[in-house]
Amino acid sequence: MDGAMNDSVADFGTFFLPGPTEVRREVLAAMMKPMIPHRSAEFEQLFARLQPGLQSVFKTDRPVFIAPASGTGMMEAGIRCTEPGRILSLVNGAFSERFAHIAEMCGREVDRYEVAWGETHNLEELEKYLTAATYRAITVVHSETSTGALNDIRLISDCCHRLGVRCLVDSVSGAAGAELRMDEWGLDYVLTGSQKAFALPPGLAFSVASASFITAAEQSQGRGVYFDLVEMDHFATRGQVPSTPALSLMYALDVQLEAIGLEGIENRWKRHTAMAEMTDAWVLEGQRDGIDLKNIVERGRRSPTVSTLQLPAGMSADEFLRKVRSKGITVASGYGKLKATTFRIGHMGDHSPATLERCLSACRWAISN
Ligand code: PLP
Repeated sequence: MDGAMNDSVADFGTFFLPGPTEVRREVLAAMMKPMIPHRSAEFEQLFARLQPGLQSVFKTDRPVFIAPASGTGMMEAGIRCTEPGRILSLVNGAFSERFAHIAEMCGREVDRYEVAWGETHNLEELEKYLTAATYRAITVVHSETSTGALNDIRLISDCCHRLGVRCLVDSVSGAAGAELRMDEWGLDYVLTGSQKAFALPPGLAFSVASASFITAAEQSQGRGVYFDLVEMDHFATRGQVPSTPALSLMYALDVQLEAIGLEGIENRWKRHTAMAEMTDAWVLEGQRDGIDLKNIVERGRRSPTVSTLQLPAGMSADEFLRKVRSKGITVASGYGKLKATTFRIGHMGDHSPATLERCLSACRWAISN
């Protein structure tokens, strides 16, 4: 990590949830700044300053929409603004199931291509689904935070486009930590939230839509108001947002984008990959010492931002988490049906191999004592 981030390492490095993740003091302090009128040149300058930084994270020339919402808001926006038609949801965990549920609750006909938790989707199978019925779009989760599995969204999106189907990507725990190239990969719609690899407080959702997605959305009914991407697009061209922005969070974003720019997005991806590999090496070392630990996701399909590790048989997950906390470190429980048998480490955002080292030693102590 670069110097700007190292400054705060001394008082940073205890909170390893896979969202919200730990936020640096400097970023929190930025939110103390006074309010400004949002229909003003001052706001437009702020909005314009944020765009290049956000675009570098998504690797896009398109405007990046900023909504005062959590990630779910931008999931719903994507569904509401997709042209009418059936949706295929790729499900491999809790959040990909949530995307399917949102589509259903927005009145869509939804089919699911479901694989076991911890697995990723297979391109040949996907192609079979997409040719067996007529779909307008698919939904897919890039980094499935409930398991730590990483889908290859580039290949999934290519497969969709060959068959004339749109691809809506939830990159809530991917963006800013896992490689993501909106324009080069020709993605239609990608969304994320502020509280994961951006290492900001929760409360902002970001998304990018291709020009063709917006043009098609203009013809669609039922886009609603708050999450109308066409409206967000019109406002963005004037350096504005449709409703009152979360100014304090945008001040924090401003500071954080500067740090991300100094580090460089490719370096940020590399740092996340290094942390996932370090976690893997730690698991292997434990196994060599006779500790029955394992990552529930196969190597090569793992997210660089979050690992789900299966605890030794018979070990109480609650007791393990309590012991880790007694060392001043917070890791997450397993998600949903994995709660009793696994735990998750969010090695994302501004964490580094140095802070992760502390987390892993606390986990090792908790397992061995
Ligand atoms: N998608 C993924 C992959 C997530 O990890 C989450 C939250 O953890 C969501 C969607 C929902 O985001 P939010 O809770 O910000 O609405």
